[in-house]
Amino acid sequence: MSGRFVVVGAGTMGLGIAYVAAGAGYAVELVEVDPARGAEAVRRLGELWDRGVQRGKLTEEAATANRGRVTLRAGLTEVPEGADVIVEAVPERLDLKRAVLREAESRRPALLGSNTSSIPIAELAAGLDRPADFVGLHFFNPVWAMALLEVVVGPATAPQTTEAAVALAARLGKDPVVVRDMPGFATSRLGVTLGLEAIRMVADEVASPADIDKAMVLGYRHPIGPLELTDLVGLDVRLDIARTLQAAYGDRFAPPPLLVEMVAAGKLGKKSGQGFYTWKDGQKK
Ligand code: NAD
Repeated sequence: MSGRFVVVGAGTMGLGIAYVAAGAGYAVELVEVDPARGAEAVRRLGELWDRGVQRGKLTEEAATANRGRVTLRAGLTEVPEGADVIVEAVPERLDLKRAVLREAESRRPALLGSNTSSIPIAELAAGLDRPADFVGLHFFNPVWAMALLEVVVGPATAPQTTEAAVALAARLGKDPVVVRDMPGFATSRLGVTLGLEAIRMVADEVASPADIDKAMVLGYRHPIGPLELTDLVGLDVRLDIARTLQAAYGDRFAPPPLLVEMVAAGKLGKKSGQGFYTWKDGQKK
């Protein structure tokens, strides 16, 4: 299989999307404005494929082929017109994403996607000439391990664009859900609800964080508890999403005071070493 797949932004998500796209046989162009991050992403991709070979998940030939499919580009102006797909995975800022999407559109891709986790597709599409070709493609971290692709359909997204996004999910080995463009889509709205209530339960001293998590893991077969998940996502990230959802849906999404206090104290979860759990060298203690 062939085709051209452009990923803009080689951070956590862009790297993962490039990984699955190369594995699906696309010629991948990874666009990154920060040369150090770009080089690091290419190194990390090589490491991931090496590890795949060591674990017997792919052959040496497949790893070499995947490596050869990825080209690093310093800007969208270096990307030839007419790619099959361009997905942006730059930081979650409306002005930045709008500018990147407009530039991406000028490269005339068949399908244009955004990996935004919270900005409405309608707002991102506002500056585009062809919003019918634009759709939300919300991947999950780590992209190679998470099966879900949330396809977010904006008011101007054409039905054939949604169909193309669903077909793309299949090619990438992902399982899609198609959702209407509402704040929090399907995943964040439900996931954050559970996380916020669990934080209120910690404040109410219902049980320890470990026992609240254990109750959901053993009692409801969740793979991970809502507080540990909040530590992994980042308390600051969850606070931002809660505020966005509060503005959209009202006070049922009001961030609990404990969450606000913890973020102010720098307790951001795994990345800061302290959240509802203590973390050391990337492991929960
Ligand atoms: P990140 O900060 O790790 O990476 C963003 C990258 O984009 C950086 O390397 C940055 O240098 C680069 N960049 C900035 N401006 C650019 C430009 N004009 N052109 C090219 N590259 C540019 O961010 P991330 O965590 O990968 O998140 C990216 C997007 O994915 C955000 O919209 C985020 O909300 C969403 N998302 C994140 C997660 C997650 O768990 N991290 C999950 C789902 C969705």
